[in-house]
Amino acid sequence: MEDQLLWIHGQYKHPEKGSFFETNNPATGEVICRVAEAGQSDVDIAVASARRGQAVWSAMSGAERGRVLVRTAQLLREHCEELARLESVDGGKPIAETPEADVGSAADCLEFFGGQAASLHGEYQTVPGGFFYTRPEPVGICAGIGAWNYPIQIAAWKSAPALAAGNAMIFKPAELTPLTALKLAELYKQAGLPDGVFNVIQGMADTGKMLTTHPGIAKVSLTGEVGTGKAVMRAAADSLKSVTLELGGKSPLIVFDDADLDNAVGAAMLGNFYTQGQICTNSTRVFVHDTIRAAFIEKLVARARKLKVGDPLDPGTDVGPMVSADHMRGVLGYIEKGKQEGGKLLLGGERAKVPGFEQGNFIEPTIFDGLSDDMTIVREEIFGPVLSLLGFTSEEEVVERANRTEFGLAGGVFTRDIQRAHRVAAQLEAGIVWINHYNLTPVEMPFGGFKQSGIGKENSRRAFEHYTRLKTVYVAEGDVDAPY
Ligand code: NDP
Repeated sequence: MEDQLLWIHGQYKHPEKGSFFETNNPATGEVICRVAEAGQSDVDIAVASARRGQAVWSAMSGAERGRVLVRTAQLLREHCEELARLESVDGGKPIAETPEADVGSAADCLEFFGGQAASLHGEYQTVPGGFFYTRPEPVGICAGIGAWNYPIQIAAWKSAPALAAGNAMIFKPAELTPLTALKLAELYKQAGLPDGVFNVIQGMADTGKMLTTHPGIAKVSLTGEVGTGKAVMRAAADSLKSVTLELGGKSPLIVFDDADLDNAVGAAMLGNFYTQGQICTNSTRVFVHDTIRAAFIEKLVARARKLKVGDPLDPGTDVGPMVSADHMRGVLGYIEKGKQEGGKLLLGGERAKVPGFEQGNFIEPTIFDGLSDDMTIVREEIFGPVLSLLGFTSEEEVVERANRTEFGLAGGVFTRDIQRAHRVAAQLEAGIVWINHYNLTPVEMPFGGFKQSGIGKENSRRAFEHYTRLKTVYVAEGDVDAPY
C-alpha cells in the first residue's frame, strides 16, 4: 500500500518534517505501509483549518449538517467490504466481525446523530421581570484521540456527535491502526462535509499531547488506558479543556444459580473472546454461583475449545491475532503470572500456532479457574483472550467482590429473578450493566464508565452534553429598577 498522509482541510497532506512510521499486519508481521507522522506545525495547520471549517459548518442548519452525516453513513455501508477488510488487515480483527461491529457500528452512529442534528434545542422559562432561554452552542474545535481496538468505530463515535452539534474535530487514531480514519475522512468529504471540519493527524503519544495542550482546541475526547486518561486530563487542565474519557475496565459478569446456562456461557464467551478479548467492557471476571459452577465450566470449555484461531481474513475465523507483538508479549506475561500465582488452566495458555502465519501474534483462547480476587490476572486489565472464573455463594458477597476494583466500566447479571436482576444492576458500581446479555452497545444507549474507567458518556443524546456549551440569555420585559 502507498504511503498514507495526513488529512487536513479536505485533502491529503505531506507532514511538514517528512517523518513517517510503519503500520503492520498483526497476522503476518508484514509492513502494510508507511504513515505520515504529524509534528507541531502540522497540528497548528490542522487547528487553523478546523477554525475555518467550523465557521462554515456551524453556520449551517442542523438539518443540513445531519444530511451530510446520513450521507456519510450510506457511503460507509456502500464501502463496507473494503473498509472491513482494511480494518481486519490493520488491526487483526476477524472479518466475521468487522463489517458489522466496526463499519456497521460507525454507520449506525452517523445515522443516529445525523437524525438528531436538527433537534438540538434550548429551553425557555419565565422568571421575575422577564424570561430566559438557553442556547446549546458548539464548543469549537474538538480533539478525538482513539485506541486501536475499534478504530473506525471510535472515529465515528467521537466525530458524529461533535459534528452534529456544529463542532470541528481533529482526530488522531492510535499509531497501531491508523488507516480507516483516513477513509472515513474521504467519505465525509464525498458526502459534502466542508473542508477542515474533520481533519486526521497521525502519530504517537507526542502528537496526542500536541492536541491536549493546544490553546486552539476546546475539548478532548480520548479512548485509551487509565494512565493515558490521567495524562490527558492533566494536560487539558492547563487550558481548562473539558474531557470525555473512555478508559479501561475489569468488569464482572455474575451468573446466578437460576440463570439460563447456555445464554450465560455465550455471554461469557462474547465478553472474553470477541475481538480476541481486546474490548474495554469485557467481562474478564466471570463469577459463577458455586452450585452451577461444574455445569457452567463444562459447557464453557466445550464451546471455547471449538473457537477457531486463525487468519483474520478467513470468514471462518473466530479469534485473530493480538494487535501487536508487544501486546501479545504483555498478554502472555499475564498468562504466566496467572500460572505462577496458582491459577488452574482449563484451556489455552500459550501462543497459538497458525500454519502459514508463523509471525502472527496469536494467543489461544484461555480460561483460568482456581483463582482468588487478589491475584494479578483478576485485578489488572489484560486486554486479551483470557477469562478468569471465580465462584460465589451469596448475592451480597458477589456484589461486594464485583465492586472491589478501581475500575467501573461495565458489568453483567444473569438470572431469571427479575427483582434480583434489577437489585444487582443498581448496586454494581459500573457505567453500563447488561441483564441477561453482554457487550451490546446500540448507539441509542449511553456508553461510559464510573470510577477510574472514565468520565462522560458517548452515544445517545447524552453525548451532546459533552459537545455543546449552554449559553443562558436573560431577557428583561420591564424597566431597570436601579436602587440608586
Ligand atoms: P492508549 O492509552 O495506549 O492509547 C490511546 C490513544 O492515546 C492512542 O492514540 C495513543 O497514541 C494516545 N496517547 C497515548 N499517550 C498519550 C498522551 N500522553 N497524550 C495524548 N494522547 C496519548 O490505549 P490503547 O490504544 O492501548 O487502547 C487500549 C486501552 O483502551 C485499554 O485500556 C482499553 O480498555 C481502552 N479502551 C477503552 C474503551 C472505552 O470505551 N472505555 C474502548 C476501547 C478501549 P499511540 O497509539 O500512538 O500511543
